[in-house]
Amino acid sequence: MEEVLVEWAKAVHRENPVVDAHLDLAAEVYRRRIYRERDVVERRYLRRFLEAGVNVCVSSVFVASGDLPEKGLHVAMAQIAALREDLEPVRDVIGVVTSRAELEGALRDGRIAVLLSLEGLDPVGGDLYLLRAFYDLGVRGAGLTWSRPNVFARGCCKAGEMKEIRGGLTELGREAVAKMEELGMYVDVSHLNNDGFADVLECAKRPFVASHSDAWTVHENYRNLRDEQIAALASCGGVIGVNACGTIAGAAPYPREEAIECLCRHVEHMVCVAGAEHVGLGFDLCNGLSAATPRLCFETEKDDLLLHHGEMVMLSARLLERGMTEDTLAGVIGGNFLRYFRKVLL
Ligand SMILES: [Zn+2]
Repeated sequence: MEEVLVEWAKAVHRENPVVDAHLDLAAEVYRRRIYRERDVVERRYLRRFLEAGVNVCVSSVFVASGDLPEKGLHVAMAQIAALREDLEPVRDVIGVVTSRAELEGALRDGRIAVLLSLEGLDPVGGDLYLLRAFYDLGVRGAGLTWSRPNVFARGCCKAGEMKEIRGGLTELGREAVAKMEELGMYVDVSHLNNDGFADVLECAKRPFVASHSDAWTVHENYRNLRDEQIAALASCGGVIGVNACGTIAGAAPYPREEAIECLCRHVEHMVCVAGAEHVGLGFDLCNGLSAATPRLCFETEKDDLLLHHGEMVMLSARLLERGMTEDTLAGVIGGNFLRYFRKVLL
């Protein structure tokens, strides 16, 4: 990569908002704190966030299948508490935001804003009123399910599998969408199967996101979106975050050039189908969580196409090299998701 391109990309990151719409940060912090590690975000993420100029990061709250159903509620709350406690000593640099005013305040003061999102409503169980409790804990987004069935919906298969799972939202799932919209939480369709996507499209009244999904046309994987889904989500005013998980995107982490090239193809295809204002990044970097959770079985392992957030700049440089305009890139690296969050947060 030519130095001049990297410098150009760095300047775009410096001058524009940068957003990662999906990172399993709370889950990793929770796991590492079990092993008595402290200051996890400061020691493992902050320098890279600053390198890439990250302004907003959505932390998912992800409960592994082994903790469900009995420990779902406990683990979800523990993850939120662990993350908040971990961020306390660095609150002048990074912290959870729960409203548009707090988001604007963080941007104005140069603090990194962390938004909380539930990756699956499993911790809520059948008690939909618990959504309000999570809202009160600061959760501002949620997917109905991870890649597994629950009382709300059925997920698509895991990234490493290749089988179609049918069946859309349950009646409770539709109620959950309405309740989330009423509370001011955004709906995330990543991990839903195709029938579930169609049902959300039909019953959602507000724009929704796919925080970490790639394009089926570029790589056939059930975690990815068909062109008609990409177009439909965009026409409702939503944003899609391109996922950097190798199995989902369709590449291996090495050689590095090919990994980044693969992400470029997904970004460019999304921009082509959705329009430049509806594409963002939700990298879903999992190496940290995998390392923190030795006995847990994930969708994928050691599969991240970006080794850390600092490498966002390399992706941006490559997109510029391949002909993306600076305006489009500025939207993709964060402008589009930021506009969305400004709209949906109360
Ligand atoms: Zn996920």
